[in-house]
Amino acid sequence: MTTEEADRPVALVTGSTSGIGEAVARRLAQDGMRVVVHSRRSTAAGEALAAELGGLYVRADLESEDEARGLAGTALERCGRLDVLVNNAGISRPIPHADLAAATPADWRRLLEVNLIAPWILCTAALPALRRAPGGGSIVNITSHAGVRPKGSSVPYAASKAALNHVTRLLAAALGPEVRVNAVAPGLVDTPMTKDWAEAHELWRERAPMHRPAQPADVAGLVASLVAGSYLTGEVIVLDGGLNLT
Ligand code: NAD
Repeated sequence: MTTEEADRPVALVTGSTSGIGEAVARRLAQDGMRVVVHSRRSTAAGEALAAELGGLYVRADLESEDEARGLAGTALERCGRLDVLVNNAGISRPIPHADLAAATPADWRRLLEVNLIAPWILCTAALPALRRAPGGGSIVNITSHAGVRPKGSSVPYAASKAALNHVTRLLAAALGPEVRVNAVAPGLVDTPMTKDWAEAHELWRERAPMHRPAQPADVAGLVASLVAGSYLTGEVIVLDGGLNLT
């Protein structure tokens, strides 16, 4: 590692080979950070993006506690520091809210494992390094408007995101002033996850004051502001193009 590389703040962005995570990785690299790109499977895409951004790639399945812990450890070992953690990786499975039997305990466990417990493990593993970050550490959790209002692809998904919103506030209160913790709670974002959600796309085009879903770069811009904001902590910012006003 060159001295110049060692001086750059390091950001770990989970689930960063597609959608919101990729846009966040690109934006933080543009802002001068060394980015650790992560994915569960797409190794070739991850290595290509890391090479393009001058960062590095680590593969880990966040359903495994060991691999989640290992991701933070490997990032730290290979970069020597960790300044920013963006918990972006997440899963969703559309299940009608009134069909209680369709949301099985297995669905609950898997959604909570990836969307809530994995971010917790990563926060825990990254904390000592974030506390040492020269400009202060920053955690940004990508949650959902479904964690703020009674909406979303399924009840367990919405509950996992509501819990992560509350964890955001609890950790902000517990970890300041060394580490700031904030969340972005997007409405509909145009990503691989939502490509077949025709009804939601129509809703946003017709009813949201912005008359479109967010693009991943819209979310990335807000994440970059939260990372740069030296006094902002404990905020859950709904980014839904104003749909909540209607
Ligand atoms: P996406 O499917 O493009 O990205 C999700 C990422 O998470 C992928 O890279 C995937 O590989 C990774 N991931 C999933 N399970 C994993 C596992 N077990 N181990 C490691 N990585 C895993 O979708 P996206 O829309 O970019 O979603 C990013 C985040 O934004 C998610 O947390 C999602 O819940 C949240 N979100 C998305 C929207 C939207 O409308 N797209 C709205 C609100 C919140």
